[in-house]
Amino acid sequence: MKTEFTDVLIIGAGPTGMALSIALHLRGVEHVLIDRLEQGQNTSRAGVIHAQTLESLRPLGVAERLIARGLKLSSFAIRDRDTPLLQLPFDRLPSVYPYLLMLPQDMTEAVLAERIAELGGCIRRGVTAVSVNQEERGARVVVSQNGERHVISAGWVVGADGMHSVVRQASGIEFEGDSYAESFVLADVHLDRAPAPDEVSLFFSPDGLVVVAPLPNGTFRVVATLDDAPEAPTREDIQALLDTRGPAQRPCRVVDVAWSSRFRVHHRLAASYRSGRLLLMGDAAHVHSPAGGQGMNTGIVDAVVLGQLLPDVVSGARAEAQIDLYQQLRRPAAEQVIEQSHRLTQLATARGPVRRALRNTVLRLADGLPRARRSIALNLSGLARASLSRVQPC
Ligand SMILES: Cc1cc2nc3c(=O)[nH]c(=O)nc-3n(C[C@H](O)[C@H](O)[C@H](O)COP(=O)(O)OP(=O)(O)OC[C@H]3O[C@@H](n4cnc5c(N)ncnc54)[C@H](O)[C@@H]3O)c2cc1C
Repeated sequence: MKTEFTDVLIIGAGPTGMALSIALHLRGVEHVLIDRLEQGQNTSRAGVIHAQTLESLRPLGVAERLIARGLKLSSFAIRDRDTPLLQLPFDRLPSVYPYLLMLPQDMTEAVLAERIAELGGCIRRGVTAVSVNQEERGARVVVSQNGERHVISAGWVVGADGMHSVVRQASGIEFEGDSYAESFVLADVHLDRAPAPDEVSLFFSPDGLVVVAPLPNGTFRVVATLDDAPEAPTREDIQALLDTRGPAQRPCRVVDVAWSSRFRVHHRLAASYRSGRLLLMGDAAHVHSPAGGQGMNTGIVDAVVLGQLLPDVVSGARAEAQIDLYQQLRRPAAEQVIEQSHRLTQLATARGPVRRALRNTVLRLADGLPRARRSIALNLSGLARASLSRVQPC
């Protein structure tokens, strides 16, 4: 079999793999980025980009382009139908990006792919990693393209290949955690009016949760938990969710559905982010509930941190052992995200009148405490978690 050589092989060109590729291009690291899909995914999925992610993407020359296409929202509000419980101000975040930026994931991915092309790089599409075998100073990856197989021999292999990562499986790293019983409904819809135009609105109700947030193209992202969500939720399904869970005094009417999906959610964390010369990031390393919109954001920050360390290790400016700083910074961050989104999901899905009353009391109390509001906003924005500042330049 033909063998090609590279310093770094990134498997998976989702947002995480693309962000790492940009970072490596900017540092002049020779690498290959492959994805089994012939084309980038064109679905909406992750809809929010947080302040810490934008700060991380700024040196990559991407943040301003995302902002130009996105919609800035200033707050995140939790209500029990029409009763306000907690209002989190994002316009007072200690960041140059004091807001929640709404942008569908396919548009975020398009911006990242454009930047790779601008830097002279490419995504090798239709290339599937079939097997990964670790060697002393790297790994041999057998890839398949158009029915033909060849080997890519890389000094480092980064698994940015999503939840079912072949890199994680080859490394034998455990993916510890569990699945949620509920499934999530996701839809981008046109509404006759906004519940609140400038905020992410999270409505609790005895029937469960519904989240409504405006997107830049005039649609609204609707997310809800259901015991057994339909595969492709219809306009009537979304309307029923809004009628039974959303604002009652000024109800919204769903005009049409631009995109809808359901997905099942797990909360899992890789026991380690590294095995020798194999590294994991993004959904390959951690998956969790979409509550708080953290999935893609956490993966992108992983990539930017790794993109600071790996070039130094490849060039020999840092000792190989220092690559472990990546896991030291980012695994605890994922632990916090999993814990936080799990808590938010439990709050949102609390059953029984006593539990719900207790939950609402706690949230109202937190609303009266500016420090509590600020702390929750810092956590949701990612700013409370370590990222770049602890990576000292060589
Ligand atoms: C329906 C849906 C809705 C979502 N909604 C939200 C949301 O509201 N908020 C949020 O934060 N997150 C959401 N997510 C999660 C979010 O999409 C992920 O967290 C994010 O895409 C992770 O990025 P990633 O680059 O790590 O992995 P992925 O985006 O999964 O990319 C992995 C890439 O690896 C490629 N690949 C896999 N195996 C191989 C192989 N063997 N060889 C070559 N290539 C391979 C895949 O083709 C894919 O392109 C949602 C996900 C789904 C499916």
